[in-house]
Amino acid sequence: MKKLAAILLCLTLLLCACGGNGETTAAPETTGSETTAAATTAAETTAAETAGQGAGAYTPGTYTASAQGNNGPVSLSVTFSEEAITEITIGEHAETKGTSDPAFEKIPAAIVQYQSLGVDTVSGATNSSKAILEAVADCVAQAGGDAEALRAVPVEEGGDTQAAALEDTEVDVLVIGGGGAGLSAALSAAQNGASVILVEKLSALGGNTFRCGGAFNTADPERQKDIPMTEALASAVEKVLEHEDVSEEHAALKAEVQKQWDEYKASGSTTLFDTPEWHALQTIDAGDYEGNVELVRTLTSNTLDTLNWLGDNGVEWTDQVSTVVGALWNRSHQTPNASGADIVAALEKNATENGVTIYLDSKAEELIVEDGRVAGAIVTNANGEKVTVKAAKGVVMATGGFSANVEMRVKYNGQWEDIGESVATNNSPGATGDGIVMGEAVGANLVGMGWIQLMPLNGVSGGGISGYVNSSLYCNKEGERFVAEDQRRDVLAAAVLEQTDKLFYIVCDSKEAELRGMTPEILGYMVENGLIYSGETIAELAESMGVPADALEKTVAEFNEAVKADKPDEFGRTTWENTIEVGPFYAPSFSPAVHHTMGGLEINNNAEVINTDGEVIPGLYAAGEVTGGIHGTNRVGGNAVPDALCFGKIAGANAASN
Ligand code: ADP
Repeated sequence: MKKLAAILLCLTLLLCACGGNGETTAAPETTGSETTAAATTAAETTAAETAGQGAGAYTPGTYTASAQGNNGPVSLSVTFSEEAITEITIGEHAETKGTSDPAFEKIPAAIVQYQSLGVDTVSGATNSSKAILEAVADCVAQAGGDAEALRAVPVEEGGDTQAAALEDTEVDVLVIGGGGAGLSAALSAAQNGASVILVEKLSALGGNTFRCGGAFNTADPERQKDIPMTEALASAVEKVLEHEDVSEEHAALKAEVQKQWDEYKASGSTTLFDTPEWHALQTIDAGDYEGNVELVRTLTSNTLDTLNWLGDNGVEWTDQVSTVVGALWNRSHQTPNASGADIVAALEKNATENGVTIYLDSKAEELIVEDGRVAGAIVTNANGEKVTVKAAKGVVMATGGFSANVEMRVKYNGQWEDIGESVATNNSPGATGDGIVMGEAVGANLVGMGWIQLMPLNGVSGGGISGYVNSSLYCNKEGERFVAEDQRRDVLAAAVLEQTDKLFYIVCDSKEAELRGMTPEILGYMVENGLIYSGETIAELAESMGVPADALEKTVAEFNEAVKADKPDEFGRTTWENTIEVGPFYAPSFSPAVHHTMGGLEINNNAEVINTDGEVIPGLYAAGEVTGGIHGTNRVGGNAVPDALCFGKIAGANAASN
């Protein structure tokens, strides 16, 4: 059991490497396969004797069952006395650690306390909650009990599974949303001397930041010093520098990069070229010049400092940098687990240690405006009561995007033929655009709302080797390449939507799998469970994938030639690393999903929210995916986490300084 847990953990963490904020794959995104008891509450001290009696007439003993959760089966065992459920022990599962933890903590305890299967599911962990309820119902049936009757047993509102709820209160800074931007803002405000309350509407912190691979793009001379500059990469720089001037700000930025590039070439350096300005120029270029140059420059000139600030606050970064999907350059940093959950955990710990008070299950409903200034918010607390939180210094809106709100997606979409119900999202259920609605209600200007990112790498088969493009080959059901794998995400997604069944495979060899930390055990698990196709030879792999073998062999051979040539190929790909030659070979499959909403509240360099007259709304700050104006039409992979964390830090510090 422990072995499987370890495999699932490794598998999931590696899958999380698939990109930046929300850079998740659909299937098993993350895991927390616990083998220890999650709830062992004694029924004797509860309402069991009364509530459960009619329904509970059991054959005493311990029974086990499992039911389908979000990422796979959730197993548990239930112990019964003659008249009560006395203990529930959670067994093996692959549910998303952090997001699903509240379900494992609250639901078994509530079932035992109330002797009821009528307990509410936990918001943000609905499928995990349902799996627990279903598996317990199975055990009840095995013990000769009546699960239907237990479903009808009432549960008291706000029982003792509920943490102390937020009350009417006053604070210096109120932060709305507990993802990367909110936690960063809260920590930064607290470190700048403010009293801080953070409200999060779900039962767990983290939002999309938790689910993602945590990729953080920044120019970083120290970590990039061993990466070679190639002819193909040089051609990518030249191409962006050739773009005609779009605005004065763009012309000035371009001139700066041109100067740096000329100096770099004159220096004879063979190390990868990178600077904050080149990062900014690439970001603007990849967003079709729709991003705000000043905001982007604020971002890229703060990334390294913010990375180091996070390091000082407990976030561990590896020494390697790479290129996550759509990142366009070798500057994506990750934690050892390649997981945004590591960032969330460190920020939560440091925020609370610095005095931030966090309220879960607490949803901000509307902003309070007094004398033209945002002065707080009305919040529905964990008991369902509406309370008033006054914020003397400011409110930071950090509620994330609206990928999980189909109505808003359809309303604002200006980019895709279909972005409705039929298109999946790999985002947190909390990404419903609340902050955009609340901001708009107090006059905030919205920018870039029509641009919605589809993440090409959304898992279909369920497994993966890595989300890095360095050595990846993408092929379609015909066994042919169809796009430059190092392209922008919108280009990749649009290209995939043109392929048969809107699906593609990432082909790689054992060398790449090993490089990305895949052990034979993990690979074996994925193959056995149908999460990934495999074959000793390319022809065998093709057979397992159901694609024509001769076509795939030809595609791989041509790919290997291109790697050796290290020049832009017929698709324009410039990022080359390793050939695909060492069997066995592997290929998971993917199809695009809604992943990031680029539009939102307009902000300035101080993270202050701007109204429709172009003026600052006093007291209101915003950071992260709730804002617009940075990414333009297409967000660069690995730019969302730095966006959330840099502007969160700026917003928190500025709010605290009022
Ligand atoms: P970002 O990367 O911008 O921080 P995330 O998606 O990581 O975005 O985090 C946003 C968080 O805000 C999520 O955890 C989400 O549940 C939370 N949230 C969204 N709307 C509200 C709201 N009305 N009140 C409190 N929290 C909210």
